[in-house]
Parts: sequence; structure tokens; C-alpha cells
Amino acid sequence: MPNSPLVERDLKVLWHPCTQMYDHLTLPLIPIRRAHGVWLEDFEGRRYLDAISSWWVNLFGHAHPAINEAIRQQLSELEHVLLAGFTHAPAIALSEKLIALAPPGLSRCFFGDNGSSAVEIALKMSLHYWRNIGQAQRTEFVTIAHSYHGETVGALSVSDVGLYKAPYEPLLFKTHVAPSPDGRQNETGMDSARRALAGMKEILVRHSQTLCAVIVEPLVQCAGGMRMHDPAYIKGLRALCDEFGIHLIADEIAVGFGRTGTLFACEQAGIRPDFLLLGKGLTGGYLPLSVCLTTDTVYEAFFADYGAGKAFLHSHSYTGNALACAAALATLDIFAQGDWMASNRTLAAVISETLSTLRDHPHVASIRQTGMIAALDLVADKTTGQAYPPSERRGLAVYRYGLEHEALLRPLGDTLYLMPPYVIQENEIRTVVAVLTAAIDQATAAAAS
Ligand SMILES: *Cc1c(COP(=O)(O)O)cnc(C)c1O
Repeated sequence: MPNSPLVERDLKVLWHPCTQMYDHLTLPLIPIRRAHGVWLEDFEGRRYLDAISSWWVNLFGHAHPAINEAIRQQLSELEHVLLAGFTHAPAIALSEKLIALAPPGLSRCFFGDNGSSAVEIALKMSLHYWRNIGQAQRTEFVTIAHSYHGETVGALSVSDVGLYKAPYEPLLFKTHVAPSPDGRQNETGMDSARRALAGMKEILVRHSQTLCAVIVEPLVQCAGGMRMHDPAYIKGLRALCDEFGIHLIADEIAVGFGRTGTLFACEQAGIRPDFLLLGKGLTGGYLPLSVCLTTDTVYEAFFADYGAGKAFLHSHSYTGNALACAAALATLDIFAQGDWMASNRTLAAVISETLSTLRDHPHVASIRQTGMIAALDLVADKTTGQAYPPSERRGLAVYRYGLEHEALLRPLGDTLYLMPPYVIQENEIRTVVAVLTAAIDQATAAAAS
């Protein structure tokens, strides 16, 4: 069966996420028929290596037999029940396991059904905590330049990605923006961390009485351009939050579950945030689920006689969905059955070695990597670091070339990256980097289109 009838029907009725639909007048839309491991297959039998884990959600490949089976089994018992007044075994078991795996001291799980809602939960919980302990003047948040925390209004308010945010400014609450520890300029990781912490401290000093929390993506600011920093920054940030007595929210929705080389990125800094947010890979890339973990201290500030008006009256219809929890439990079982951090180190070394062939490319700058996330930037001029005019859409040319050569590489503007599932084979890494290299050659050789 050809792709085209589905594409025609789709373009009549769907509106796709994060897409200028006008692009699809010329850009192919690809209907996927099935997927297995790292491979997606369309209706014409063409394959695409999912080098970005279907937007960073997939960990162990598509159609994993153990996750499939866990969902099937759960389906035969209970698909869903409300989580207010009722509970179920998968939600309990998942909470127990997450608490056991997370940095010590995180002892409560509040579920949501997507990453953005976990961010909203943490923001509301932090503000409400301060209110409940008699500090209702604390209503403000600090975020880091170039950070991304999701698309809902609160999550967007604490994000700093202009392109996604600008049209909605009138809806958003004001947030303090601290400098990014992004270590791409000619400084060491420690220098970047120190510089960014100094900028953070200035904000904390000035607003010490009105702040609730700092929100951060530990180690890699993903959607904001795969900007990476030293764990020393996160360690220093924890110390600053302690010094000023405010919360630290670690948004590990993208970096959690092994992407950075440890199960959670916070581990590399040896710290415990007050809120740890997980999503994306939580269900192995199967079903929407997110969770906000927090401490006894936060929990106890809400625990009171109903009349005290301190309850956290937040809910989502599908909070703690049983099928999603079963998928998450199966995902954690897969983690427990193998030394994935070790095998990822091997894969990460192959990624690093193969990407190093691009080091001298005249239009490639800032090759960088943290665990299983590797990125580089296309630049017009390597010596000055001058970017291409965004209107030239060089990254889009890379995407297009990838699709024609069996690779799903969906760049962030002119930032190209690999964030593959952990079941990718070494030869598949070499293949995908070869496609990426040819794509870069083509996209940068062409005059502005
Ligand atoms: C993707 C992402 C989110 C939002 O998650 P959704 O499930 O897309 O709502 C929040 N924070 C970070 C760091 C993310 O990468």
C-alpha cells in the first residue's frame, strides 16, 4: 500500500504538533505502519532509524516484547480507575520503585499524564508549600536561560525558548532568568559553572524574600539547543538554594532514565532536589505518564485537617493510569535486568568516536556529548561561530536528507543531535553518523535556498 492515501486524508483533518503545516505542501509527511527496535517502517516498506528516540521517549526500542506483554497483562485486569479515593497495584509498585531509585529523601510520588503537567504540579506544589507554612509572599520562580519545561502556560512561563514562547507572552507569568551554564564559549566547564552560579546568586540575593524555587534541566538543556554543563553547576545550585532557603526543581523529563550516563542526572552532582520530575522515558516510550517526586517536608506542609484548607487539590483525569504504570514497571524491570549504564558507555564511546570525524568540518561547531546525547551546530563560519540565517533552514535540509536515507534526524533549528534508544547497534551508529555527515555536506554546500 502506498503512503499517499493516508497522507492525503491526514492533511485534511490533522493539525500536527510543533509544525508549520504549510511546510507539508513540500515536506513529506510519513505515515508509520509499524516499528521494531530502532526501526520505523512506512507503508511502502521504507525504513527509518529512530535516532532521536521518537522525541526522546523511547529507551529500549519499539515493540519491546516485555513491555508489550506487561501492558497486555494489565489490560486483562484493569485499564484505568480514578486515583482519588482509589488505588491500584501498578501505581503503588511504581511509586515504591521510583522512590528506591531516586536520590534518597524523595519519598512521595504525584502522578501526571505528560511532562508539562509534572512541571505545573511542581510549580504549584512549591508555591502552595510556602503559602501553607505562612510565606505566601513567595510567588516567583527562577529559570535558566535557554531552558525548556513544556508548552502549557505555567511550564512555558518558566521556559526561555523565545520561538515557542513569544506569541503567548501576554498570558505568561514573569520569571527571573539566570545565565546558562552552557559551556560552549571558550571556557572550561568549571568556569562556565562558576560564571552562571554568580549570575544566579545575584538574582537570589535581590529576590530572596519572594522566590519559591529554581527550576533546572540538570546537565543538558535539551530543547533549548542541547546545551550541556558540568555537574559542578548543579552541585553549586543546590548549595545556593539551601543558602537562600528555596526549593530546587530538577526537571529530568528528558535527561532521566540513563540518557546522561547515570540513571538520573542529579546523581552526577550528588544532590537531591526538592522536586524531581520524570516523564518521557518513564514508560519506555509507550504511554503518556509523568511523575513529580518530592520530600516528606513538602508533603507534611499539606497534611492537615481538611478545614485548614491546605490540601493539594490538583488532578488530571488519567493520573496514574494503570496501563501506563504497568509499562513503566516493565521498563524499570528491563533496567534491573542488565547493566545498561555500562553498555551505554560503550555505545556513547562509539558515538563520540564516529562524530569526531566531523571535528574539522568547516561548517560544524561545538561537537559535544553527555552520555547518550550528542550534538553539534551547523555554522556559516567556523572561525567566528557565525550562525546561518534561520530563514535558510539548513537543519531542515538535514532532516529531509535523513528521511531519504533511512534516518530520522529531527534537528532543533541548526543544532543536530543524536539521542538514540539504548538498543541501537554499533554498526547502526556508524550508519546513522555517515548519513548525518552526508546530510551536513549537502545542507552546507548548497547556496542559501
Ligand atoms: C519534553 C519536556 C517537557 C514537557 O514534556 P511533555 O510530555 O512534552 O509535556 C518538560 N521538560 C523537559 C526538560 C522536556 O524535555
